Amino acid sequence: MNGAANGSDAIGVETDRGLITAPLVVDALGWRRVLAGPAGYQPPEAPLSRGLEVHPEGGATDLEIWIDRRYVPAGYGWSFPAGEETRIGVGSFDPKFHVRETTELLAEDLERDRVRYQGNWIPHQLRAATGRGVFFAGDSAGHCLPLTAEGIRTALYFGMALGRELREVVDGRQTREQAATRYAQFSDSHEWKFKWMLRTQKIVPRVPPRLLGPLIKVFGVKCFVDWSFRHYLNIAPPEFADPAPGQAKPEVPTAV
Ligand SMILES: Cc1cc2nc3c(=O)[nH]c(=O)nc-3n(C[C@H](O)[C@H](O)[C@H](O)COP(=O)(O)OP(=O)(O)OC[C@H]3O[C@@H](n4cnc5c(N)ncnc54)[C@H](O)[C@@H]3O)c2cc1C
Repeated sequence: MNGAANGSDAIGVETDRGLITAPLVVDALGWRRVLAGPAGYQPPEAPLSRGLEVHPEGGATDLEIWIDRRYVPAGYGWSFPAGEETRIGVGSFDPKFHVRETTELLAEDLERDRVRYQGNWIPHQLRAATGRGVFFAGDSAGHCLPLTAEGIRTALYFGMALGRELREVVDGRQTREQAATRYAQFSDSHEWKFKWMLRTQKIVPRVPPRLLGPLIKVFGVKCFVDWSFRHYLNIAPPEFADPAPGQAKPEVPTAV
């Protein structure tokens, strides 16, 4: 797919298999915002972080995070158990910092294999959720949360919100333009929360390393952790996946 759309009734998308037209088009193609048009979205100027991880075999029990300039000046390193493997990586809020070398360093420090690399750019700023007749959801709309770079839950959350609007269009209860207005308002209503996350993302690298330990102890008290995690979770609350008001819970297909 190589992009381009127009604002008339049917939207045309030029692909490597020719022009495809549809009345409703969603760009869920990730940070490149392919369908946003020629303006493009290019690192390192665009508001993007970068992340890379390796997936060595063998699980782990602990979920570990390093805020350590040995691995990245602005960002963090991680080691997360994921079933039969562990995901070890480094994320940099500064798109100019190359994370390959220090991802390998962290894996080496942990005496784990450097195999099965997975990396990408990660948006850390909301973008317009609609434009040129196209709807954007997930990384294409900057729906990945700054600071934590958690973007799967939010991609599903905003994707569901968009799906509900588009269902109303398909069923003839609203126009595409009305859906665009409502979805853009919904996405924009989260902007202040994303901005707070971005502010924190910018503050953390400025904290002198010697103060990090004591500060983490202070902020690590259970009541603060519970309070902040609840607020964080509520940016895209899991209950949003419950059926929309007036809609029945979708039936889960049974295996044959
Ligand atoms: C190293 C790393 C670790 C991460 N870890 C986590 C984590 O633990 N938890 C979490 O919540 N988030 C994590 N994230 C962020 C998360 O991966 C993204 O925010 C999330 O995947 C965004 O989902 P998306 O569907 O919007 O985009 P994507 O997952 O990027 O999906 C877009 C899809 O569109 C396809 N595509 C793009 N352009 C075209 C084209 N022209 N034609 C056809 N297909 C195209 C791509 O191949 C891709 O399959 C991580 C990111 C990185 C880089």
